Amino acid sequence: MSLAATSISPPESSAALIRCHDCDLLQALPPPQEGTVACARCGSGLVTIKPDRLERAFVLYLTALLLLIIANSFPFLTMKVQGLVQSSHLLSGAIDLFGQGMWEISIAVILFVFVVPLIKIVTGLLVVGPLAYGRSFRGAESLYRLFDRLHPWAMTEIFLLGVLVAYTKLVDLATVELGPSLFAFLGLIVAMIAADSTVDPHQVWERLHAAPRVPPPPPALRRRLVGCHTCQLTVELPELPQDTETHCPRCGSPLHRRKPDSLARTAALLITAALLYIPANIYPVMTLSALGSGAPSTIIGGVMELIEANMWPLALIVFVASILVPMLKLISMSWLVISAHRGSPWRLRDRTLIYRLNELVGRWSMVDVFVVTILVALVQLGSLANIVPGPGILAFAGVVVLTMLAALGFDPRLLWDRAGANST
Ligand SMILES: [Zn+2]
Ligand SMILES: [Zn+2]
Repeated sequence: MSLAATSISPPESSAALIRCHDCDLLQALPPPQEGTVACARCGSGLVTIKPDRLERAFVLYLTALLLLIIANSFPFLTMKVQGLVQSSHLLSGAIDLFGQGMWEISIAVILFVFVVPLIKIVTGLLVVGPLAYGRSFRGAESLYRLFDRLHPWAMTEIFLLGVLVAYTKLVDLATVELGPSLFAFLGLIVAMIAADSTVDPHQVWERLHAAPRVPPPPPALRRRLVGCHTCQLTVELPELPQDTETHCPRCGSPLHRRKPDSLARTAALLITAALLYIPANIYPVMTLSALGSGAPSTIIGGVMELIEANMWPLALIVFVASILVPMLKLISMSWLVISAHRGSPWRLRDRTLIYRLNELVGRWSMVDVFVVTILVALVQLGSLANIVPGPGILAFAGVVVLTMLAALGFDPRLLWDRAGANST
């Protein structure tokens, strides 16, 4: 169900005000009612009201925590070939990569697959648990802010797709057994997705610290109202200096009228990512040495192998995640930066939607990094077969992380500002 947000003019009775995080339109929230409230101008979801199920979320986060512990305690995958047995744990590949000098990838995988999900689950538990029983504690706001920030960097479901791709690559060559940790990991993903979809962050913020309901402000005051990017509280700034740092009274995040130096920073990240995109595709991401001869494999080579093995659906997924998405992301983000800089009024709503898609799908490109990590851990069979990582994977991980940072650093409100849509 989708409800249109109420525009603030003409003045109505008291209501909670909200500024759209994507286009900055100031609007009054309608009375709480189940469903999603979309921005009246750009269509972004502002608030989703869900039935009160914090207790269920608490139980789900607790389940996720237990499953994360189990997922790290037993074998994840075991490969058997010609009497040789190689077992791997969830993080074996990341630890092996560290030993092979690829510490950057090693740290990234450990962070995205274990540390960030762990912190996310624990902060979710600590905030949602007490709230479910009508309590909260000092510091809960800071914890929930951390929860919000970490959200895009928890990549368990992408790692699982990596497992599927790695399994498909190996299953013709050897017997691959699924270990108990893999099933726990699967359960962990289900529990985390269910927990995240049970709670709406806006409702959690409202419970921690309800936004005041105020009458619609006069036009002169509206310019002073700034929306917090983390908790969406509308805060009145005392004056109008550009880029002066003040903090949100509810969640403590820095408040900016706009993200500082957004266009320059995003452009710098995109240029670096575009430069890295070249070695990422030229150099091999891994080399399989079987019986003394080596076969280097690039990203596109990996897709071709899947096609040759008639794994069309998987080949398509890897092609989209590893080749199409990074390329489209580089092109579309560059276009957004240039069009914002030029103040183009063309299709503002569609360009905002493209920004949202970029933010949403970019992280899935990490799948190839995870595939290499899993294969490096499993295929260590001495002179029979070995997989070593190649320099391409380091460059590719750099492309994914830099384009994610570029999307997070871009301020879509600038599209609307520069086109003259935010004059009040
Ligand atoms: Zn909007
Ligand atoms: Zn805030």
